[in-house]
Amino acid sequence: MEEVVIIGSGPAGLSAGIYAGRALLSPLLITGNALGGQAATTNEVENYPGFPEGIGGMELTQRMQQQAERFGARVHMDEVLEVNLREHPFTVKTYGGTYEAKSIIIATGVSPRTLGVPGEAEFKGRGVSYCATCDGFFYKDKEVAVVGGGDAAVEEAVFLARFATKVYIVHRRNRLRAQKVVQQRALEHDKIEVVWDSVVTEILGEGTVTGLRIRNVKTEVESTLAIDGMFSYIGNVPNTELFEGQLDLDERGYIITDRRMRTSVPGVFAAGDVQERALLQVATAVAGGAIAGVQAEKFIAEMEGDTYPDRQW
Ligand code: NAP
Repeated sequence: MEEVVIIGSGPAGLSAGIYAGRALLSPLLITGNALGGQAATTNEVENYPGFPEGIGGMELTQRMQQQAERFGARVHMDEVLEVNLREHPFTVKTYGGTYEAKSIIIATGVSPRTLGVPGEAEFKGRGVSYCATCDGFFYKDKEVAVVGGGDAAVEEAVFLARFATKVYIVHRRNRLRAQKVVQQRALEHDKIEVVWDSVVTEILGEGTVTGLRIRNVKTEVESTLAIDGMFSYIGNVPNTELFEGQLDLDERGYIITDRRMRTSVPGVFAAGDVQERALLQVATAVAGGAIAGVQAEKFIAEMEGDTYPDRQW
């Protein structure tokens, strides 16, 4: 019987691992298919406190993993296939086995939203990418487009400008959503050009991507943008399929919790991007993970009749 199973290895899951580890619960952390989650695919994290010079997302999450392991977390590279939260102890079925758990912390994060246009699925991995950190290098001396106007799109456009000769940001409005400091960096960059008020209607290519068909939403004029690769950053969708019908989700599919990260099922907690909150940042994800880790400890102690030191809960 596991004390705590943590599902997901992004900053929220790893932070939960540190806190549950320090509670001597020896948490079992199941990584999912990519260690470090979305943060690990971010080239540079500039706003996580404590790293004034910035830190690579991969390095940051690897350090969190080391820290969790130092306190006894067991990090398993495995994927969860099924959970049963209807009965206690809960069960978690993975490729590697089936676990019973007294408590579960869900930190499954989000996945990139797809554009849903012709050519997207066909050219995925052959010119269509959702990760500039992973694939940017392949576009050295080439021209690329980034779709979206949020923090991710604009930050990654600046990153891609290190390799590419030209980076177009295709945005559906006439204003970027990204933080001001990030916008400024892109708008002042001589390799970056924003294609305003425009949406991608088709991804063109033969074998690999050669261009985008674009429609200006104000003029309705269609045009073709010749590029070698497209990076889509149009937001995310929560990874909550496993929990549908078992936990309360909001209308967009995010897990609803209270401020102690408690879900609608006692003993099940959720933290990080999978749980709806005001600010999606590594800083807030690790905060949620910390709370979830401590709350799992409290839940188990109370369930077993131990008194739990009343901190500020
Ligand atoms: P986001 O903030 O939701 O931005 C998505 C962007 O894509 C928006 O500009 C949106 O346009 C556009 N968009 C959405 N659907 C579209 C569609 N179907 N076709 C064309 N464009 C579409 O997503 P994100 O940039 O991935 O960021 C996710 C969260 O992580 C945000 O809260 C963000 O602040 C945070 N984040 C923070 C940092 C950082 O602090 N350094 C870095 C990365 C991400 P509109 O603007 O018109 O809505």
